Amino acid sequence: MNGFGQTQSLLLFTLSVRMRGLIAFAALFVAVLGKETFDGHQVLRIKAKDDVQLSLIKAMEDMVEFELDFWMEGSDVSTPVDVRVPVHTLQPVKRYLDSRNLQYSIMIEDLQVMLDEEQEEMDSVARDAEPRSTDAFDYGRYHTLNEIYSFQDMLVAENPNLVSKMVIGQSYQGRPLNVLKFSTGGTKRPAIWIDTGIHSREWVTQASGTWFAKKIVSDYGRDPALTAILNRMDIFLEIVTNPDGYYYTHNSNRMWRKTRKPNPGSNCVGVDPNRNWDAGFGGAGASGNPCSETYRGPRAHSESEVKSIVDFVKSHGNMKAFISIHSYSQMLLYPYGYTRTPVKDQTELHNLAKKAITDLASLYGTRYRYGSIINTIYQASGGTIDWTYNQGIKYSYTFELRDTGRYGFILPANQIIPTAKETWLALMALMTHTNNNPY
Ligand SMILES: [Zn+2]
Repeated sequence: MNGFGQTQSLLLFTLSVRMRGLIAFAALFVAVLGKETFDGHQVLRIKAKDDVQLSLIKAMEDMVEFELDFWMEGSDVSTPVDVRVPVHTLQPVKRYLDSRNLQYSIMIEDLQVMLDEEQEEMDSVARDAEPRSTDAFDYGRYHTLNEIYSFQDMLVAENPNLVSKMVIGQSYQGRPLNVLKFSTGGTKRPAIWIDTGIHSREWVTQASGTWFAKKIVSDYGRDPALTAILNRMDIFLEIVTNPDGYYYTHNSNRMWRKTRKPNPGSNCVGVDPNRNWDAGFGGAGASGNPCSETYRGPRAHSESEVKSIVDFVKSHGNMKAFISIHSYSQMLLYPYGYTRTPVKDQTELHNLAKKAITDLASLYGTRYRYGSIINTIYQASGGTIDWTYNQGIKYSYTFELRDTGRYGFILPANQIIPTAKETWLALMALMTHTNNNPY
């Protein structure tokens, strides 16, 4: 990116003026490039006893002075609310909860301790030992953006007759939006879309997406079910759907969720790319405040990370399944999120979800909930799969992968492969059904 020359001349200018200026500049530099820390931040799990208590918890979203970061929310009293509280607002937040008789427990005692452990694990493997092939790639670790980009290129180079890389657009900061296309031939075959990492901090999703990519090339020609799918359909997989955000989670702020586009007139950066789609856009279940983690953006499809998928799906014209993967809370969801009106394929989507989570649970017993977004998590407008369903893509699903909150977004790396393996069983159920039920 440009601006380096500018920085250099600014530095020289500062040097020539006086030393104090240089020190101030250096401090600014650290502030800009340093990594945000979360010492003493806690994640609290709040349980509502009734609807009155639930609305008291919901009201906390608008209390900007608390600086809360909601990790998990529910639409009814059966689902607890997980919220990250900065160390300097812990006391007032706990006072608020106590004074209203809201029960809470501490899920994460000190977030920075967990982040340090995660970083140590990443650093424990020598960085200079770049894998030379996708066989040597360590699927049980979290990887940087560049490592995933290299992985994609290796996979294409190793499997030129099965995999190709498409660049469907650029992120706000100019990074390529890469999509892997798995195809055994034909043109505009019916297709399945899978994306991971649209919310950048949900690291187990990009890691699982990488594992899925390898699984597809390994199973084609060996596993009859996957072979049958690829003999008639194409699979498109976007592993890093929000690359600017993903880069930022590695280098500046591990808890970043949104895109990285500045918002004119606000100091807060980014749009929630899962509230930016043209489906109930601007309705309840998204925020108009640029500082909110669920900020919908200035208009539908304002984010290039979203618009690029919209354009791709429309121009492709033959997408039959669309699966968007998030974490955490262990759910498999179908539309709608923005309205209580059931989709016309409700019964089929519901039964298929049940089959998929049953298959998922068969491996390690991991339990998933399932249903429509609005009935299972909460009302959310402008969501991905509401848009894809309204485009006529019947098999539109969203996953929320592991876990249920013990680690939340900081899922230990030793759970990556088990998570990917069990999720794959559910994906196979969805893809097989799609292949067997042409429409
Ligand atoms: Zn998400």
